[in-house]
Amino acid sequence: MIDLKLIEQLTNAFGVSGCEGEVRNIVRKHITKNVDQIRVDALGNLIAYKKASGAKPGAKKTKVMLAAHMDEVGLMVTSIDKSGFLQFDKVGGVDNRVLLAKKVLVGKDKIPGVIGSKAIHLIARKGEHKKVSPHSDLSIDIGATSQEDAQKFVSPGDYVMFDTKFEDWGKTLKAKAFDDRIGCYMIIELLKERYPFDIYAAFTTQEEVGLRGGRVAAYKDEPDMAFILEGTGAGDMPQPKERDESLVPGLGLGPVITIMDRSVFCDQGLVKLLTDTAKTNRIPHQIKRPGIGGTDAGRIHLSKGGVPSVVLAIPSRYIHSPVCLSSKKDIENGLKLMRLALNKVK
Ligand SMILES: [Zn+2]
Repeated sequence: MIDLKLIEQLTNAFGVSGCEGEVRNIVRKHITKNVDQIRVDALGNLIAYKKASGAKPGAKKTKVMLAAHMDEVGLMVTSIDKSGFLQFDKVGGVDNRVLLAKKVLVGKDKIPGVIGSKAIHLIARKGEHKKVSPHSDLSIDIGATSQEDAQKFVSPGDYVMFDTKFEDWGKTLKAKAFDDRIGCYMIIELLKERYPFDIYAAFTTQEEVGLRGGRVAAYKDEPDMAFILEGTGAGDMPQPKERDESLVPGLGLGPVITIMDRSVFCDQGLVKLLTDTAKTNRIPHQIKRPGIGGTDAGRIHLSKGGVPSVVLAIPSRYIHSPVCLSSKKDIENGLKLMRLALNKVK
């Protein structure tokens, strides 16, 4: 069984890259009783330490890092125009096509706004509707009547997140930020158990803007290996022209193991550990199409003298948009696979 209440809290939380405090507080609240130490580093990464079971003082134990990023893609207010409309920049990989006519929340006070879209009968004659508007042509409308009015509620530098509420659709969940609150959720669950090795659980920051938190997360503790838990894009929506390529990975077909992406060649021993564990225990799983995307593994495996790393991800349709879908079964199977695999680590 998965804790839907906690997934709801995590995915509804405000956590655009560089503004992960709300997510960090939820994580801290849920892990405090299950770990031995918590620290927050200069970049905002929360790193929790859980001592090995039966650890004798001074005995050298294997150090295993579990990592997931707390941040999500979003926007940032850059200026307020004379009429009170907000101009914005993108934070992380947001496709301009998903911006139009979306509800957003602005700043710490979560001021509601919408990204306006001109009505089709105003633009069809000029053919404007056939082009994708760059984000610099769009504005956020918070209903302010003037620049001064908007300034009472919003300032340049305020973060903006999509206004999406978690929904349970039975087999499928809808939310924003499954990438990577699912990874955060899974680590919170895994920390409920004690293992015969030391655990360093890193909840990292600023992954979506270039794996920045992950770059320093492993430096101090020098783990012997790292498991990076992620949300990854599913490709199983209808795309007739690219059908063959679009099917991998699919929702409900199991957690996804990375062999290689743009940021890392995963450690072959750890890939084998995950695939063998899945096969032996008949846990459905998928292999990520090589060469796509990048994760914190890209930085963590290069930390200090190098850290053997592997990525296990839960597929999510429409990733990096306000309407992501993930399968409850995939989350359950991801957790099952991680628990069984960790029990084989020496
Ligand atoms: Zn991610």
